[in-house]
Amino acid sequence: MVSRRKKNAILGILSGLIILLVVGSCVAISVPTIKIHAPSLIFNRYTIYPFRTILEHCGSVVTWDKQRHEITIQKGSNSFNLSITTDQIQGIPIYVDNKYIGKSPLQKRLFAGKYEVVARPAGYAGSIRYLTLKAEDAKDKQIVLPVDQHSYQDFLDEIIRLGYTPIRVMDYYNHVPTTKKTIVLRHDVDVSAEYALKMAEIEQARGIKSSYYFRWSTVDPEVIKKIRAMGHEVGLHYETLAFYSEEIHLKSAQDITAAVQQELRSRLKFEIAQFKQQFGEMYTIASHGADENIRLGVTNYKAIMEGENPNDYGIIGTAYGSITEHFTYMSDVGGIWDPFPYPKLENNEGPFYILIHPIHWATSYSLQTQSP
Ligand SMILES: [Zn+2]
Repeated sequence: MVSRRKKNAILGILSGLIILLVVGSCVAISVPTIKIHAPSLIFNRYTIYPFRTILEHCGSVVTWDKQRHEITIQKGSNSFNLSITTDQIQGIPIYVDNKYIGKSPLQKRLFAGKYEVVARPAGYAGSIRYLTLKAEDAKDKQIVLPVDQHSYQDFLDEIIRLGYTPIRVMDYYNHVPTTKKTIVLRHDVDVSAEYALKMAEIEQARGIKSSYYFRWSTVDPEVIKKIRAMGHEVGLHYETLAFYSEEIHLKSAQDITAAVQQELRSRLKFEIAQFKQQFGEMYTIASHGADENIRLGVTNYKAIMEGENPNDYGIIGTAYGSITEHFTYMSDVGGIWDPFPYPKLENNEGPFYILIHPIHWATSYSLQTQSP
């Protein structure tokens, strides 16, 4: 686990560097032979590989002197047409040396020199952007590579920079005033309490409070205690219908009769009471979408809570339902932003309701295990 994480961290840092090396190096090759002393990070095939591939695509001959830690590049062009395209999502702001040059897709001529090209703000694994670097004298050769490495830290720093204030789901029900700059920030802890804790710490370091919903399979009393102590909200990520169906084997949505619905409601009330007893006061709950829900085509919210008065369940509201109608909803379900948030954040299309799953951001944690 440790070594895999370490490797991920190294690869992550490297992908972050790729763009700098790519553009800088390709464009800088205006003399027949140049030598670059390798930075300390270049020490194995993982690092040399993309670097070499890119340069070779640019028409260079690259040799790597292991002993002297030196890369030699021969031949190359001195002017490139930089064409930036993005994977599915368009309109990502592109910066060259911190200067905004436009939104993707776009073209830019770069002359000899070193450039830092960033597609920002950073997204994450599910929304990797690609950069295509095409040498003018080798039109048929294209290089496609991930543009940047991204983290939850970057995401938060960006929303702070844009002037947004995240709130918890319970704050909404407690009538905390909202503006266009409000973000209801919610997390469904589907897989790992450990990742949720890491995310909570990253938020706390920035004075952000959000809502964490734990499944019975991810509850961890120690983690919940810590997350609560940071001021975050903790609630139940309920999957009552899925549990019931696994036990009783509902064939289809038609099997959810009024009697079944009554049973589900009383089961959920019991679960909420249990959760409070074990983990402390809880104000809101969030429905979990299990495979069983997909099979039945019915959410827990729809089967149980829709039309119900949350007060009858000992809570003040639910994370689904009418709340979402008051906000621009965005999520990272399946590890892919839907919709891609940054243009909307920049265009002030708020207030927002953002659902983020700690598991989808887990690899970015490994980059910053020391300081949240
Ligand atoms: Zn879930």
